Amino acid sequence: MAYSLADYKTSVHNNWCPGCGDFGILNAIQMGLADLQLPPHRVAVFSGVGCSSKTPHYINAYGVHTLHGRVLPFAVGAKLANPGLTVLAVGGDGDGLGIGAGHFVAAGRRNVDITYVLFNNGVYGLTKGQASPTLALNKQTKSLPRPNASGPVNPLLLAFASGYTFIARGYAYNVPQLKALIQQAVEHPGLAFVEVRQPCPTYNNITTRDWYGGADRLDTAGKPQPRVYSVPDQEYDPLISEDSSEAQRLATIAAFTSKALEGGDAIPTGVLLRNLTQSTYGQRLEARLPGYHDVPPATRAIEVEGKSLADLEPLFEELRVV
Ligand code: SF4
Repeated sequence: MAYSLADYKTSVHNNWCPGCGDFGILNAIQMGLADLQLPPHRVAVFSGVGCSSKTPHYINAYGVHTLHGRVLPFAVGAKLANPGLTVLAVGGDGDGLGIGAGHFVAAGRRNVDITYVLFNNGVYGLTKGQASPTLALNKQTKSLPRPNASGPVNPLLLAFASGYTFIARGYAYNVPQLKALIQQAVEHPGLAFVEVRQPCPTYNNITTRDWYGGADRLDTAGKPQPRVYSVPDQEYDPLISEDSSEAQRLATIAAFTSKALEGGDAIPTGVLLRNLTQSTYGQRLEARLPGYHDVPPATRAIEVEGKSLADLEPLFEELRVV
């Protein structure tokens, strides 16, 4: 059976504001999953809390709208219980890098084979536009009574420092590129992170669609100079593999760091790091529990005729302190 974009759509009423960048990201996810020909019943989408965390309602797949900042523990747990699922975690910058920051770091250490799409608009849109962890110091969006007194966290550098093995950045209004980035993230064997820059037209009146598009930066011919740009494939190789020499690894990390530090009037998009040298958490579990992938926890019988099959005695014996 072939799957189409329509198979990933739902009839749930969408109440995002007109012009919100969330729409482009939702479309890119749906198109990416359809192009990968993944059966919707083999996909699970998890979210935290925020405007973007309504995404699972709009995708025809399994989905759980979880708790504020807790999307990654839910998504990781589902993947470990049922490794045959394609698992996506979605949510905003406030959700993932504020209350969820500890989980963001912990997930990186495990390299579980899931994809995390971070909708980054610099504000807490659902709660009327407070400064999020990615809003720049001294910026004053329209809901703030005073300029932001805190500096921003860099999502790409935090992902790298935490151990994410695939790191990309997209832009909500470049849907074809974003679709391709999400597809590559889903296909990556390990923890993939896609930061998506998106306008919040209701509360962020600084990094607007016009701002990203460079409407205030005209060249001599009067043409806008966009701030977002695609990193050209021929100039940038994000791959670190077992075949990479130490010098090549260091060069790739230096190039990644350089791109991640760009900002202001130059916002690179594309795949910025692809590290194939780390084992996944599933592989580590398989090494300790042979047969884990053949009979994962989600498919194991837990009772027969009302009687639990769990035998805890060996565990108690192992943990006994004498
Ligand atoms: Fe989108 Fe902002 Fe409206 Fe939320 S408040 S739906 S992020 S435009």
